Amino acid sequence: MNKSPTTTDILGQLVVLGSGTSVGVPVVGCGCAVCQGGDPRNQRTRCSVLLGLPGGNLLIDTSPDLRTQLLRERIGIVHSVLYTHGHADHVFGLDDLRLQQFYLGHAVPLYCEKVVEDRIRRSFDYAFADPKTAHAGAIPQLEMHRISTAPFGVLGCEIVPVRLEHGPRFETLGFRVGNVAYCTDASAIPDQSWSRLEGLEVLILDALRHRPHPTHFSIDEAVAVAERVGARRTLFTHINHELDHHETNASLPAGVELAYDGLRIDLV
Ligand SMILES: [Zn+2]
Ligand SMILES: [Zn+2]
Ligand SMILES: [Zn+2]
Repeated sequence: MNKSPTTTDILGQLVVLGSGTSVGVPVVGCGCAVCQGGDPRNQRTRCSVLLGLPGGNLLIDTSPDLRTQLLRERIGIVHSVLYTHGHADHVFGLDDLRLQQFYLGHAVPLYCEKVVEDRIRRSFDYAFADPKTAHAGAIPQLEMHRISTAPFGVLGCEIVPVRLEHGPRFETLGFRVGNVAYCTDASAIPDQSWSRLEGLEVLILDALRHRPHPTHFSIDEAVAVAERVGARRTLFTHINHELDHHETNASLPAGVELAYDGLRIDLV
């Protein structure tokens, strides 16, 4: 295997790898116009972004579509991974990191909260078994870094976590890098988190569908958050199949739009 992977340089950019809700869009077995229409902007893989930081590529979440996302964007290398939370649509592509340990020459650094680490250790128990029981390429080699709501450094950049509520009984972390924030899988923003979203240029925010949902912002709720935060540009993500890209964008206020797979923005 070539130890120098072919890769696109994304330094200074954020790439939306996936903008879809947990089952993706099109939805398997769905005959609706969005799922059947073939518009590339309505092809939404599971939620993830990749940041080109000074020290390398930082992946946020390992979606079940990770392999196809990296191939689509011609990204060969991931230097570190950061997790928002432990739900299946954000974690279960983790095994695809097995290639990266060869490219990096060491275990892949993962940054997550304890509850996410516990989920990963249970779900991928083989990755933490005695390495002598498997050949080197068979199991992901992972290096755990515990995070909380305290700002921390990774790949030459300061990351500011933003606590979010994901339904009444579950919490996630959003992340701010400079004046760009990524806040997926949220249905409420606790009081103490608003100050971490001041002065943003770009906010990427959960907005599932028009109807209310117990664990995700609806479009109306997300528009209200966008107005309160006041970022120059707000992009909605974690979108389901009820939202046609062009039709929905035409109905949104100025400066607010749906994200889409492959969208790139500058980190500022
Ligand atoms: Zn999700
Ligand atoms: Zn559909
Ligand atoms: Zn979730």
